[in-house]
Amino acid sequence: MPFCPSCRYEYREGFSVCSSCGENLVDQLPPEREPQAAPESEDLLTVYCAGSLPEQQMAKDLLAQNDVPAFSRGDLSFNVVAALGAIELEVLVPRSFAGKARSILIGAGLVKDGSPASQG
Ligand SMILES: [Zn+2]
Repeated sequence: MPFCPSCRYEYREGFSVCSSCGENLVDQLPPEREPQAAPESEDLLTVYCAGSLPEQQMAKDLLAQNDVPAFSRGDLSFNVVAALGAIELEVLVPRSFAGKARSILIGAGLVKDGSPASQG
């Protein structure tokens, strides 16, 4: 079975590229590594709710370019996502980066100034 080396997501035969991150799939996962310094989800704030995966990726890339570590729910709990058959399109950042992330997203026009990023 092919796997995505970065999401560690298992794909069916016939897939060669990860539909989530675009990584080339590998036959075997590399040995388990320390998670990429992913903080506890309690420490993360949702700064953006994307309408689609490309939008989510764009927001994450934008934040990464500005030295803000950005995560999606899929990064943090892909097995839960797989089990639910749903993809969460939220972009989360550590609490201490939330202000910076928001101003970057506002500057890029992804988030409207003054409105909360998430409702409910
Ligand atoms: Zn992937």
